[in-house]
Amino acid sequence: MRTAQGKAERWRLRLGGQDYEIQVTYKQMRSIRLRVLPGGELHLSAPIGIEPAKLREFLEQRAGWIAANTERMKARPPESRERPAPLTEKEKKAALQYLMPLVEKWYPTVELYGVPMPHVTVRAMTSRYGTCSAGRSRITLNAMLVQAPVECAEYVVLHELTHFLYPNHGRQFYAFIEGHMPDWRERERRLRAGER
Ligand SMILES: [Zn+2]
Repeated sequence: MRTAQGKAERWRLRLGGQDYEIQVTYKQMRSIRLRVLPGGELHLSAPIGIEPAKLREFLEQRAGWIAANTERMKARPPESRERPAPLTEKEKKAALQYLMPLVEKWYPTVELYGVPMPHVTVRAMTSRYGTCSAGRSRITLNAMLVQAPVECAEYVVLHELTHFLYPNHGRQFYAFIEGHMPDWRERERRLRAGER
C-alpha cells in the first residue's frame, strides 16, 4: 500500500498483551524510527511505501522496549516533550558505575587499532541504546541499560566502540562484532525484547 508523503495514520495495536495507540507518519526516509514522547505517546516514522506488515513486525519485535519506555514516559508531563528529563546525579553515577567496567572490558578490542579511550557519557534517551561520536571521541549510552542484562549492555558497548572503526552498519562492521562476540544477535534480540 502506497502512502503519501507526510501522511499520518493512527494505529491501534496490541503488543505483548497491551493496547497501544501509535501515530504513524510516512516520510522520505530509509529506516523506521520509533519514539516515545513524554506522556507515553508513541510516534513512528517510516519510509513511504513500506508494507504495514513490516511495521507491525518491527513493533512486535520491540514490544518489551515499548512497554518499558511508555511506562517510564507516562510519568513525564507531556510539556517536557522536547527531550527526556535529564538524569539526576545519582542516576548518572549509578549508570556509569554499571557501564564503565563494560567499556573498560571491551575497549581493548578497538585500542589495538589505535582508537583512543573515548569519553563516556550516559543520558536518558528514548529512541537509542547508544551513540558514537567518533570526531569527539565520545560514546553516549542510554541510562536504561542498567536495567538490561549485562550481556545485552555489553553488546551495546561493543557496538558503539566498533563505530570508531566503521561508521556505518556495513558487512565489515558486523564481521568485526561477530569476531569478538559471536552471539551478538541473541544479545540484541534479548535487548529489544526488553529482557531485564
Ligand atoms: Zn550503530
